[in-house]
Amino acid sequence: MEDTIFDKILRNEIPSEKVYEDDDVLAFKDINPKAPVHVLVIPKRKRQRFSEYRNVESDEAGIFMKKISSVAHSLGLDESGYRVIFNCGPHGGQEVEYIHAHILGGKKLIWSAG
Ligand code: AMP
Repeated sequence: MEDTIFDKILRNEIPSEKVYEDDDVLAFKDINPKAPVHVLVIPKRKRQRFSEYRNVESDEAGIFMKKISSVAHSLGLDESGYRVIFNCGPHGGQEVEYIHAHILGGKKLIWSAG
């Protein structure tokens, strides 16, 4: 499996602005934020693409969803709302081949599906 920039962040080989970490996930600020709050959440158990999640145990996918929701809560976004995005593959605009959820918030977001 290709070593990505997110593998290196997870191994602390390159710096990141961490906002949350536990045994299951790491959340850190996007280096090129598209909104006032732009945080990426990755599972410590590596998957490359969202499309792989059809084959994983429900617990693995469910825990990841719960953690994404908890990170958004800890960022204070519950009341104002936010967007969660998984880009998947070339047509989805995925640049880093390590599954990650984008949490975007802090302003009223424009909806543009591409
Ligand atoms: P995607 O296009 O869904 O693969 O998103 C990849 C995201 O990773 C982009 O929003 C980038 O700005 C972000 N990114 C790339 N390198 C870093 C880094 N070193 N630290 C934080 N975010 C990064």
